[in-house]
Order: sequence, then structure tokens, then C-alpha cells
Amino acid sequence: MMKTTTCPLCGKDDLQLLHGESGFSLLKCLKCSLVFKSLENSLAEHIGDMPDRLYNDVEIRGREKSNIQRARDRLNILNRYKKQGKLLEIGCATGEFLETAQHVGFDVSGLDASQVYVEYAFGKGLNVKYGRLEDFDYNKEEFDVICMFHLIEHIQYPKEFLKQVHEYLKPGGLLYIITPNLESHTDKLFKYKHPNFAQADHLFFYSKDVLGKLLSISGFSMGGVYSKEYVYHIFTSFIQFLATRLKRYSLKSRTHLCDKGSSEFLKRQNKGNSFIKRMVYKISFLVAYLFYPVLKPYGLILDRYKKGHELIIIAKKRPCVKGL
Ligand SMILES: [Zn+2]
Repeated sequence: MMKTTTCPLCGKDDLQLLHGESGFSLLKCLKCSLVFKSLENSLAEHIGDMPDRLYNDVEIRGREKSNIQRARDRLNILNRYKKQGKLLEIGCATGEFLETAQHVGFDVSGLDASQVYVEYAFGKGLNVKYGRLEDFDYNKEEFDVICMFHLIEHIQYPKEFLKQVHEYLKPGGLLYIITPNLESHTDKLFKYKHPNFAQADHLFFYSKDVLGKLLSISGFSMGGVYSKEYVYHIFTSFIQFLATRLKRYSLKSRTHLCDKGSSEFLKRQNKGNSFIKRMVYKISFLVAYLFYPVLKPYGLILDRYKKGHELIIIAKKRPCVKGL
């Protein structure tokens, strides 16, 4: 996504600058309320190769027990709507959700834009492919369920992407989306300095209303809206926030944050990624479980009011696409 002057959702040019950082600006459309990132050219040209560069922590991810618990939680929500069928996960990473869904009888396949993740998932015997949705030709109306967890905020052209997803779903098929929640209470404590905004390849920031609008014009009707706050989220947020600030500070002291600085920023974000993730996981889990009696009720209240850090949506394919 290059420097933007119109809203990618409604096309209007009534944009408000919410926040500026080296490499990107955060904009809000005053017409439809979409919040999105406008990248400087030097960062924009790296968007294509980011998955292979940023998502290679396979040893940490693959062994992480919380990923399996998360996969079970996600499957429990899906089971309220569907218990079996042909399921595709776009952005399947190391494949924990696919494994869990396969175990209860779904016929699963997946794809991911990180080669190391796909190799790891393939090694577990899963039917997974390396690439992006547009690299493959699935049959029309092939799937009963298409899942994408923490993916849609990375998609540069969401309307076109969802149109393709719509084609691959059977009539009445389900689209299951999880994305960082713009209305997250915890994230708002950090304002626009929350790591969710700083992450280089997060391009869109959805609230339930705006995502609902996008889904509606892409041929879907809303099935269910949920939210989830994991107990450790407040600590992972805080540690990532500190790490980002520290990296920025050390970068600032060495070089001017011009165009050259943004690709430098990306390189450093990649380099520190694995170490920071390991540290973030270990410390935050430990601290979170010490504070469990306080954080669990806090999370349940946020879930109830849809202010948890994850926005969870189950949408149903309407028979024909309107307005595209
Ligand atoms: Zn708009």
C-alpha cells in the first residue's frame, strides 16, 4: 500500500491524520470510519517479502502450548455453527488450528505466505501449501468454511480478496475471521503507540462496525460477533511496546528517520523479532498467571462488551455479490 489519498473502503478523500511515525501514517476516513495505514515508499516496497522475513520463529511457535489451547477455543466457536465439512485456513502458520479441526472430522487444507511455517505444518502431515490465496486456483464453491486468523489486517486490497473468498465458498458457507480489535480496551491504554499499530505489515485496523460494512458489500451477512481477551495480552502488549520504543530510541540516536530510516526500521524489526518474541512469551505468561485472579474477570468483562483484543466474526455467504 503506497501513500494514500482516498479511503480504500468507500473511496472518499475526507481523511484525518491520527498518528505519524517513521515509515507510516495512521489515517481515519471521516465518512466510513475505516482506520488504515499509509506507508512510505521505502516500507511499501517490502510488503511482498515480509511474511518470509517476519514469520520464521517456527521453533517457538510450533512448541508453544498456548497455540493449541487457542486453536481449541477457536474451534469451539466454529462448532456452534458447523461441525464438519471442507475447511480452508488462509494464513495457517504452523497448523495448530488445522490439526485440531481435522481431529474432530473437518476435511482440512491450508496455505501460508511463510515458507518455514508451511514446511513445519507439512512435516506434521497436514495438507498445506506455500503461497497466497491469489497463487492458487481452487474450484468455485469448494469449501464449507474458510478461516483467516490475524490475516485480514495484512491484506492490501481487502474488497478484492473477500470477493475471491466468496467465490470459493459453497452457498451458505461460513467465513471465520479473527483480527485485532480496534475497540480493544487494553490496546486503547497505549493509544496509537500500541504494538498493533507499530507492526510494519498491519495495514488495516477494524472495528466490528467497519468490518461488518466491508463484509456486507463483499456478499456476506453477519452470523456472530464475539471478542476475546487472553489473560497475558496486557503484559505482551506492554513488553512489545517497551521493546518497540527502545529500538526506535537506539535507531534515532544513530540516524535521521528519513526514507532510508524506514527500511532500516524494518530490518531491525526483523532482526530483534525472534529474541523479543521468546522474551515476551516467557515473561508475560509468568506474570499473567501470577495476576490470574484479577486478569481473568477483567478479560471476561471485556469479552462480554466486545472490547477484548481479538475481534471474532462468523459471516455467512449470501448468494450474490452486491455493489462490486
Ligand atoms: Zn471511507
